[in-house]
Amino acid sequence: MHELSLAQGIIDIVQRSLPPENSQTVSAVRLKIGDLAGVVIESLEFCFTALVRETPLEGAVLQVERVPVQAVCLTCSSAFAVNENSYRCPQCGAGQLNIISGRELQVTEIEVHDSHTETS
Ligand SMILES: [Zn+2]
Repeated sequence: MHELSLAQGIIDIVQRSLPPENSQTVSAVRLKIGDLAGVVIESLEFCFTALVRETPLEGAVLQVERVPVQAVCLTCSSAFAVNENSYRCPQCGAGQLNIISGRELQVTEIEVHDSHTETS
């Protein structure tokens, strides 16, 4: 399952960026996911929630920012947002496009809070 290994990869990234003394817990993880990355967000969230149990990431929220597919036409150089159903240039109708965004899949921000200062 694609989303399962993806969720594990995200957790690995977050855990590597946490300080080794491990006094902090993660409250949120921000992601950028392109529409072309082929990720089912609901499925990713489900796997993530299952995998973070009993880790410093338990209870962390995934905040996903979708990145629309943008392309540049190789014929007339105009840039545009790609419609899922038509990979053609709206200006000249050419079908040769250079996809410039939409394949993103990255962790952009990790929100931590120090459990020592927690009041609740
Ligand atoms: Zn064009």
